[in-house]
Amino acid sequence: MIEEVFSVKLPVEETLKLKRNRFNPPDITRSTKRISIVTGTHGDELEGQYVCYLLVKWLRENPTKIKGIVDIYPSMNPMGIDSINRLFPFYDVDLNRTFPGHTADFLPAQVASAIVETVRGSDFAIDIHASNIFLKELPQIRISRSNAHDLVPLAEKIGIDFIWVHDAVTVLESTFSHALNSVGTKTLVVEMGVGMRITKEYGQNLANGLLNFMAHVGIIDEPMRPCKTSISTQNSEVHFINASEAGIFIPTLEHNVMVSKGEKLGEIIDPLEGVIKESLLSPCDGLLFTIREYPVVYEGSLLARILENPFEVNE
Ligand SMILES: [Zn+2]
Repeated sequence: MIEEVFSVKLPVEETLKLKRNRFNPPDITRSTKRISIVTGTHGDELEGQYVCYLLVKWLRENPTKIKGIVDIYPSMNPMGIDSINRLFPFYDVDLNRTFPGHTADFLPAQVASAIVETVRGSDFAIDIHASNIFLKELPQIRISRSNAHDLVPLAEKIGIDFIWVHDAVTVLESTFSHALNSVGTKTLVVEMGVGMRITKEYGQNLANGLLNFMAHVGIIDEPMRPCKTSISTQNSEVHFINASEAGIFIPTLEHNVMVSKGEKLGEIIDPLEGVIKESLLSPCDGLLFTIREYPVVYEGSLLARILENPFEVNE
């Protein structure tokens, strides 16, 4: 059932509408579990669109297997998605730095507040992001250290490539996931792929992983499928590789490969002089899980991230 959860009239006779597609069993009781799957907070991140499509398709085709409430929100920042704008159009603010929002504040904060009010009460929420146009990411779930105890076991049920437990920084307090975790909804943030693109394989894997998760928590009646063990960053270090020179970055390795210490990851070239300005070498043995997709770089630009010792998985 498609529902409008928030709408506001805009100038030039337009209306901003937040919509969800809700699936629920015929009988809802106090113990019925609810999950909210949201995406499109950043309008240039499209990987989640395909995941929503696949989940809605499955739910439409399997109505008798639905035992809990599933809410799908493909477009948290509808004007951003429509115009492929990362930010909230006209206000140029990052919606994911506006939570929990307020009804008496400017429009992006009103939207954030409406999202919190409508998702609040869900047992679980999944917030799907797609990096940005600069970096390509292996599918991963990011969890702040303070929530690791509760959230890592849940994330493992999704069978995603890896789980990044990171130290919380102040700015994260204004995100959707922080706002929802603070009101008791266990919220997982997925990052995968690259901005403005859809990586079909990642979308299919995540949709299958989310069905597995829903089966595990009793929201759908479906046998659990075996899922791969996620690599966790809890026992190993993430290395960041940044550019020391401006220029054009040409990777020499594919994304998602094991690299050895000293192996060349890529080069920064100067197209006018025809020279290599910098060769980027791996600082460790590990998994290349982030690689720069956008060729133009400046001093300090992030080019790659490598997870050292990725075999120490979290059981
Ligand atoms: Zn994002």
